[in-house]
Amino acid sequence: MLTKEEIEEILSNCFVVEAPMHVLVTNLPLVHSKYGRAGGATLHFFRGIQPSWRSDVVILGPEATGETLLHEAIHANFMFREVLTYPLGKILWIGNRIRRNRMLGLRMKDVKYVECSGCMLCSREGLRSLRVRVPEKGKVTHYVRIQ
Ligand SMILES: [Zn+2]
Repeated sequence: MLTKEEIEEILSNCFVVEAPMHVLVTNLPLVHSKYGRAGGATLHFFRGIQPSWRSDVVILGPEATGETLLHEAIHANFMFREVLTYPLGKILWIGNRIRRNRMLGLRMKDVKYVECSGCMLCSREGLRSLRVRVPEKGKVTHYVRIQ
């Protein structure tokens, strides 16, 4: 699971994407329901999800890496499809690590989040509206961008 500090550090070192307003992190597998043409819902497991109708939200599962975060942030910023987002995410992630090593803790910009103490978006109903299912015991941490 990515921590708040890791999320801030990664997004502070990326000048291509703007940091999303809401980052939701869950500790249990992220399951997204997709509705097929036949009408039945199939479940898919994801490292991260970016609901296309909420460009201010990215959702990260327990296996999400820094690359996942940038990948979902690209979807949120540019609404690119997978075919473009996948390679761009890889390139940005490599650049991000190189920059981090060279800058020795200095950041290109200062991105800051605070943990939400509970709101509509991170409630079960809110997550359901984003078509994300979090198991009963799952915990969702909601970070709201303040800078
Ligand atoms: Zn919240």
